[in-house]
Amino acid sequence: MVHAIKNTPSCLDWKLVYRDPLPTWISEHARIALIGDSAHPFLPTSVQGASQAIEDGVTVATVLKLCGSKEEIPTAMLAYENIRYDHVCQAQETGKSIREMWHKADLYAQEFDPESIKMPFRPWIFENDAEKVAIAKVSALGLSVLTNSIRKSRRRLRRVNCLDRDGRRRRKSVD
Ligand SMILES: Cc1cc2nc3c(=O)[nH]c(=O)nc-3n(C[C@H](O)[C@H](O)[C@H](O)COP(=O)(O)OP(=O)(O)OC[C@H]3O[C@@H](n4cnc5c(N)ncnc54)[C@H](O)[C@@H]3O)c2cc1C
Repeated sequence: MVHAIKNTPSCLDWKLVYRDPLPTWISEHARIALIGDSAHPFLPTSVQGASQAIEDGVTVATVLKLCGSKEEIPTAMLAYENIRYDHVCQAQETGKSIREMWHKADLYAQEFDPESIKMPFRPWIFENDAEKVAIAKVSALGLSVLTNSIRKSRRRLRRVNCLDRDGRRRRKSVD
């Protein structure tokens, strides 16, 4: 490590840029859906960006397979968002809490316990089977029923993030 650092000619200051969850991942007419980092950039401290992107892809593939006709594709995209949205937002939040834990740790304190900064085990993330979840939700509620609550959840998110209807921030976040 010392050798590597001594032989490094220059360093790059790579800023970690955080984004609040977007109010929606779906275009107005539900013909375009964002997945992966374009929908939800993750802090590296969550260690979840790639896995959540893959789970999005699996969910999109599953709802498309379950929809009956071409006309149902926009409904399937709304169902994809509805199935994934809360889960992904919660996973995004873990990036913030783990960052806080690591950045605020006093490594030189006498009573410092390395166990206190261990990466938390998050079974609700690690054991999530995106295909099974999508099939179970669509079987239980149907594609179109799943989309009914979406307006409500978007309104709730806009309120939480202080966004107007177009997703613009109305006042500065307290984060
Ligand atoms: C240093 C580092 C470490 C990471 N470690 C982890 C980890 O341990 N675990 C984890 O789960 N995640 C990790 N991630 C996050 C993970 O890499 C991303 O979350 C994941 O790659 C997102 O996948 P994506 O397909 O959404 O986007 P990307 O992988 O960014 O793919 C987007 C693709 O689109 C292409 N593209 C862009 N613009 C255009 C255009 N106009 N036309 C055509 N193509 C275009 C890009 O070239 C790219 O190939 C890490 C990321 C970094 C940077």
